[in-house]
Amino acid sequence: MKAGLVTGQRRFELVDMPDPVARPGTAVVDVHLCGICGTDLHGFLGSTPYNPAICGHEFVGTVRQVGDGVGHLHEGDRVIAGIAPACGQCPSCLAGRTRYCVSAFLGMIGRDPLAPPHGAFARAVAMDARRFIPVTRPLTDEQAAVVEPTTVGLHAVNRTPPRVTDTVVVQGCGPIGLLTLQVARAAGASHVVAVEPNEVRRALAVRVGAHEALTPEAARERFGSSGADLVYECAGVPATIQAAVDMVRQGGTVNIVGLASGNATISPHAWLIKEVTVVGSIGYLHHEFTDAMDLIATGKVQTDPLHDSTVALGDLPIAIERLADDPSSAVKVLVDPR
Ligand SMILES: [Zn+2]
Ligand SMILES: [Zn+2]
Repeated sequence: MKAGLVTGQRRFELVDMPDPVARPGTAVVDVHLCGICGTDLHGFLGSTPYNPAICGHEFVGTVRQVGDGVGHLHEGDRVIAGIAPACGQCPSCLAGRTRYCVSAFLGMIGRDPLAPPHGAFARAVAMDARRFIPVTRPLTDEQAAVVEPTTVGLHAVNRTPPRVTDTVVVQGCGPIGLLTLQVARAAGASHVVAVEPNEVRRALAVRVGAHEALTPEAARERFGSSGADLVYECAGVPATIQAAVDMVRQGGTVNIVGLASGNATISPHAWLIKEVTVVGSIGYLHHEFTDAMDLIATGKVQTDPLHDSTVALGDLPIAIERLADDPSSAVKVLVDPR
């Protein structure tokens, strides 16, 4: 079996891997579709090794085999992968901070004892069965493959829910920004403004529900003095951290959703004068996956407009390279390894 893996800086290869088998506590899933995530592209471009276990982590598939001790899954179940429920036994769980469960977090980032040697850019993958969540809503495979990034947006909105009168800015209209803005709108934000340099993506933001979409220059002018109530930073580049604070009003909130890979320069003076609240938002919680499925199934979040194309596994190395060189050439590319 071939698996698509980052094997070095700007090197992506289809590597021979043994067919996965179900060990105790794991399940083997035949992959239907797996989305290419910005994290995969960062891994491809970055100089540090990219964890093979998460190379391809936005997927839907069918359970082929379950290992000993797995009760909640059966052969033939359609599932997506996410984060396990809190373990109840680690120091964080015992301290009552189950949302920061150490073992669930390590599983999510592919650093747990059951982490697979490759991700879901492959015909099949085996991992901790607690990370598999049955698709219990009527979703197409294309929709189900985008539940994982939708849950990232939902988690962000759950961290800092907008009030009904809020003007909300979503900075950066890649997949996470486009999904976050839809969840923010579904959560009742009265005015959602997308900020994005790319014209095609601005149009897409309006198509999926933004009340308006501005260039960063226009947004600076618009929010430079008055300021938005709440800014979701989804661009994930160092310069946008301060830009987000610049756009929020005094006493407003900035939620860091996108992960900037380098350090950022900030203006402490502006942060202090504004008494800004800056919140981080990492990943998601187990129960949020079902809520994200509901948002898609009810049409409150549209994922179909984000889906550009589906490529075969053999075409993945070229697709990764093209996306890494020109990230705004597509929003969401799915891989069909069958
Ligand atoms: Zn991702
Ligand atoms: Zn725990």
